[in-house]
Amino acid sequence: MSHVIVIGAGQAGASCVAKLRSEGFDGQITLIGKEPALPYQRPPLSKKYLLGEMDLERLFLRPESFYAQNDITLRLGQSVDQIDTEAQTVSVGSDTLIYDHLVLATGSDPRRLPASIGGALGNVFTMRDLADADAMAHAFESGKHVLIVGGGYIGLEAAAVAAAKGLEVTLVEMADRILQRVAAAETSDFFRDLHSSHGVGIREGVGLKTLTGDGNVTGATLSDGSALAVDFVIVGVGITPGSALAEAAGVTLNNGIETNAKGQTSIPNIWAAGDCASFPYRGERIRLESVPNAIDQAEVVAQNILGADKEYVAKPWFWSDQYDVKLQIAGLNAGYDTVISRKGDANSQSVWYYKGDTLLAVDAMNAPRDYMIGKRLIEAGKSPGPALIQDPDTDMKALLKA
Ligand code: FAD
Repeated sequence: MSHVIVIGAGQAGASCVAKLRSEGFDGQITLIGKEPALPYQRPPLSKKYLLGEMDLERLFLRPESFYAQNDITLRLGQSVDQIDTEAQTVSVGSDTLIYDHLVLATGSDPRRLPASIGGALGNVFTMRDLADADAMAHAFESGKHVLIVGGGYIGLEAAAVAAAKGLEVTLVEMADRILQRVAAAETSDFFRDLHSSHGVGIREGVGLKTLTGDGNVTGATLSDGSALAVDFVIVGVGITPGSALAEAAGVTLNNGIETNAKGQTSIPNIWAAGDCASFPYRGERIRLESVPNAIDQAEVVAQNILGADKEYVAKPWFWSDQYDVKLQIAGLNAGYDTVISRKGDANSQSVWYYKGDTLLAVDAMNAPRDYMIGKRLIEAGKSPGPALIQDPDTDMKALLKA
């Protein structure tokens, strides 16, 4: 009987094993995860779960009974230490398991601050796992001062939760503006205004120099020479793909674990999906850090293990929730040279990215219609000219039929 082992019981791993069964695979399936919890969704960790508006049960992707009913062996709280690609085995503690197919769904690791600048002090948190969210929850007390390092989506979401809970919030971003790596200035401006209106102190072009404290963090000095007293710190400075295990096994890396369009790595019978995997996309190689990508890519891998010979065609989209604003992003804006902004009501705006005449991506803030239309246009390869999008009188829906 064939045995598929999946390493990493996160979004991609859980999607892969479920798809294997729903596609009729009747061999053995083992899902191995470092974390003790059942596979769960991460996005609420920096949103409703941190706010205290969502309980643990609702984080789980599926109830425990699902795995038993589908004859999926869960090995949670266990880490794979080694892969032997010749013998086709993995080592988990003192056990050696033999695989016919191995799926690497090892996710990513948050970047941490070096201990030399105070990164190892108590109450300095990263935001990746359930354990991280639980560890920082006690600190979210009204009146406390939190320093958030990094103005990407995770830092901004944590800032929104902290402000909503009545904390004093300072967010530092080393780059000239928040969201610089991922969005145009128009989107940064929207979120800066939003956070400022909720009392968050955003300091752009300012980096963290050192954290100070005796045991727990109590202070921070910034690159502009200023000093702050802080009660705790959240570090949101990006992630690195979880590829160390694959690298040690001799799997080729290239911005994470290199896969072809079918999800195969450089080693026969080893596949990869989710945050840890890079793949071909429109003539380039990309790696995405999003739930939709983890699900879709893992499902293609499951189908290909069963012989479908299918290529993964990514349809990138993403979301973020901050206060009462829902941001939805369709497409990828890399390489944009023109940005068009459409303003709706006070808290509604969409930002459209073009490269030449080609529509690349849309950021829609409380603008679900623009998001839906933009997504469908991008997926259909249609590019209404920037002038049309700019024109407030354009019948947006009609663009889909053009
Ligand atoms: P993960 O879900 O990280 O799962 C990987 C798992 O593998 C982990 O549990 C890890 O412990 C385990 N593992 C690693 N190595 C081993 C080993 N050797 N042995 C055993 N287990 C191992 N995406 C969105 O689209 N929208 C959002 O709003 C959004 N918000 C987010 C908010 C937060 C706070 C975070 C952290 C992420 C957010 N994301 C969001 C990103 C999204 O959650 C990830 O892209 C997605 O979880 C990736 O799935 P994955 O399966 O590749 O990795």
